Amino acid sequence: MAAERRAYPMRAADPKPIDVRRRGACGTMPVMASVRDRVLAQVDALADETAAFTTELVRIPTVNPPGDVYEDCARVIGDRLRAFGFEVQYIAAEGRPEHTAAHPRVNVMGVRAGEGRGPVVHLNGHFDVVPAGEGWTVDPFAGAIKGSRLYGRGTGDMKAGIASAMYAAEAIRRAAVRVPGAIEVSGTVDEESGGFAGVAYLAEQKYIAKGRTDYVIIPEPHSPDRICVGHRGVYWFEVTTEGRIAHGSMPFLGISAIEHMGHVLEAVRSELKPALASRVTEMPVDPPGARHATINVNTVEGGQSRQDVQTPCVADRCRAVFDRRFLLEEGFDQARAEVVELLERTAARIPGLRYQLKDLMVVHPTRAPQDSPLIAALDRSSRAVMGKPATIMASPGTYDQKHVARIAGLPHCVSYGPGILELAHQPDEYIELADLASSTRVLALTLLDLAGVA
Ligand SMILES: [Zn+2]
Repeated sequence: MAAERRAYPMRAADPKPIDVRRRGACGTMPVMASVRDRVLAQVDALADETAAFTTELVRIPTVNPPGDVYEDCARVIGDRLRAFGFEVQYIAAEGRPEHTAAHPRVNVMGVRAGEGRGPVVHLNGHFDVVPAGEGWTVDPFAGAIKGSRLYGRGTGDMKAGIASAMYAAEAIRRAAVRVPGAIEVSGTVDEESGGFAGVAYLAEQKYIAKGRTDYVIIPEPHSPDRICVGHRGVYWFEVTTEGRIAHGSMPFLGISAIEHMGHVLEAVRSELKPALASRVTEMPVDPPGARHATINVNTVEGGQSRQDVQTPCVADRCRAVFDRRFLLEEGFDQARAEVVELLERTAARIPGLRYQLKDLMVVHPTRAPQDSPLIAALDRSSRAVMGKPATIMASPGTYDQKHVARIAGLPHCVSYGPGILELAHQPDEYIELADLASSTRVLALTLLDLAGVA
């Protein structure tokens, strides 16, 4: 069901609004400065509560896979959004195969209508987290604060980002500033497994859509002075070589699928890899090594399938999965054609080599336009808070921006949020509380900037 843009009246308990003139109209500088200062003062006053809410979210172990206790987390976010003046709805991913009775995929979205006509800014964060894994020195689901840090699985990636987005919006309300456009906050599922029941679903159902939404900010952990404008493409594919089974004592009577896979792997290593390494994208991917096109062999398996039983056979099947990251400048068609060509060339060279190629997943590269007003607003806000220009970067991996760009058709989507990217999915994941505060300040100013009120 498509969501409609509705006008929601301010609640009786809301603070009394002050009159704010729009930038470029007849407003005066002192009024504008005071608006920003009032909002920033509220961000600071709410800093402890923002951290406490992050802890509350970390304590809900929304581990994916399999997708545990999503609904509990959605409700906690929804209750808080309602308290912050948002109209809240829960959006279950009906019809998706991963939406089951045991693990329902429930998203939450809050809408706070504007006071007039203005851009609709949507802040989205995924609340699923990867499993804790080994090597922790603290309880991964306690959300404990030690010194300047808040620890826990999903602190940076990305429950602190969700808290930051919510409290940026709340600071504006507490400062009694009226903004003309709507502010939306969504908490979504399954980003770690592709986001199909999460942001992709919201985009398919038109909750996030061109014509309804103007800007989307995803507060993934990129640290408070960096704006992530996009990511490279992903092409996962599987190659299976087919041989002929024979007795292991007479291998000359069979055809080894493993040997043939060896030829494929060697061709990838000696022919494809150097070609990819010579290509560089114009996108500011960080780390810089990921500015090149890359390929990784994710897995190889062949021959006897059970490790505890020895089978004296020539392997008649071998399977390998490849992870090809392609550049915006290459495009998917070229990336795939190059793989087909390589396989054909290898098959022509090696007598009896038979193979099958299967596409497993394709994610197209995406990048927000360089002159996007969203990037400009975040950069201005980052300068104001951090005292220096923001670093514009792109991500080596992908995140939900792809769904916003491809399904919702919205180019003005970037990622900006607290946390340290390198700590994502690691043991002892943490965020610096100072980063959480800074990012919330930047997000609050960006909401004012985009609305044209400061
Ligand atoms: Zn994430």
